[in-house]
Amino acid sequence: MKPPFRFSPIADVLRQTYGWLMIEPATTCCCSSLADLAAVPMGGDGLDERVFATVENIRDHGGDAWWLHLSRCRVCGQHWMIAQEERIFDEYFLRRLDADEASRISTEGRWPADFLTYERVLETGHVLGVRPCIFMDRVSPSLIWTVEELKKATPDISAAIIAHLLGVSTTQVERILAKI
Ligand SMILES: [Zn+2]
Repeated sequence: MKPPFRFSPIADVLRQTYGWLMIEPATTCCCSSLADLAAVPMGGDGLDERVFATVENIRDHGGDAWWLHLSRCRVCGQHWMIAQEERIFDEYFLRRLDADEASRISTEGRWPADFLTYERVLETGHVLGVRPCIFMDRVSPSLIWTVEELKKATPDISAAIIAHLLGVSTTQVERILAKI
């Protein structure tokens, strides 16, 4: 005996339920609710998904500043300079740009200094009161890479400053320095 009705294929159900959410671009954005200098956690409460639903990367700095991007909100047009910090804080740091600053980056490749060095990116995390990650592995690759990054930019940077930036003890930094 045939069932009295037939269920729709899963694809149809998904399309009805979620299709427009995936296809329709967001029509509102988070830009006005963000501070001019903002920290957006990677993962966490989903703020990153809400922000990056409309804020799109339009230019990478590349080269030495591989973490640095110019982005623009497709809803309100706001430009943001974004440092993607995925080693110590797991945060995106966003700095609101005015039209002139965005244009200087696009046309002349001249970036504001705020996130040009990894030291400044990490200092931004501290200024914004973000807590560095706690590392179970005291010589984790993320710590080692970060120390190498800081040393490359500033060869005579002190262990104490590195310790502050990474949120670890000076002893731990000295142990890392001995490994690189
Ligand atoms: Zn916006």
